[in-house]
Amino acid sequence: MKFTVLTLFPELIEGAMNTSICGRAISKGVLELKTCDIRDYTENKNRRVDDYPYGGGAGMLMQAQPVYDAYAAMAAESLASGKKPRTVFLTPAGKVFDQAKAEELAKEDEIIFLCGHYEGIDERVIEEIVTDEISIGDYVLTGGELASLVVMDAVARMVPGVLGNETSAGTESFTDGLLEYPQYTRPDEWHGKKVPEVLLSGHHANIEKWRKEQSLQRTRERRPDLLEKFSDQ
Ligand code: SAM
Repeated sequence: MKFTVLTLFPELIEGAMNTSICGRAISKGVLELKTCDIRDYTENKNRRVDDYPYGGGAGMLMQAQPVYDAYAAMAAESLASGKKPRTVFLTPAGKVFDQAKAEELAKEDEIIFLCGHYEGIDERVIEEIVTDEISIGDYVLTGGELASLVVMDAVARMVPGVLGNETSAGTESFTDGLLEYPQYTRPDEWHGKKVPEVLLSGHHANIEKWRKEQSLQRTRERRPDLLEKFSDQ
């Protein structure tokens, strides 16, 4: 899987992605990360990439030209072979990201992420290059970098070879439409709290049953909206 990030702050992306599990996957060659500083593509002698919005209003907008030229340079190989790469614009106006979207994106070989700043980006270039508009939640960030990192991290975990233990991605919250059951590790008693007896029993069928009940209970209490979808399946 190759991630290419169009951004004004490449160091923010590289610092986070080259750390921990994603960092190891990049070192192993399972993931490839390329960042592109949109500012390198400005035709403005002061390296500005923003201008005032037509019609007035607060703040500045990123201009179409440097964003398009950065995209064209990064996507050149795919475009030459007749393929328009999957290109995700991070925006509060996008569809809210979820596990199903992470799984869908993980099937791609290459994804380009476009990070906005200031008040956003000229709509015309979004229309021209973007295939998916994604929001990471109903709040406003200062830029798309943190949002792109959230999406890349969730997608990367679905890519074979990224997680050490392949089974763990399949048993976590959301994969079966429910929240995950509570988990415990050693010692079996801590601060007077004991690990549920069934988990020490070695009886796999009972453990599975207990976990399923806990998942259902947790989801009922915390996310009844998920439970409604689960019972429709
Ligand atoms: N004026 C925009 C609006 O009201 O929708 C907000 C712009 S925001 C200050 C700057 C950039 O941060 C956006 O272009 C986008 O790339 C990113 N961003 C902010 N909140 C986000 C969110 N919830 N999800 C994804 N990206 C977000």
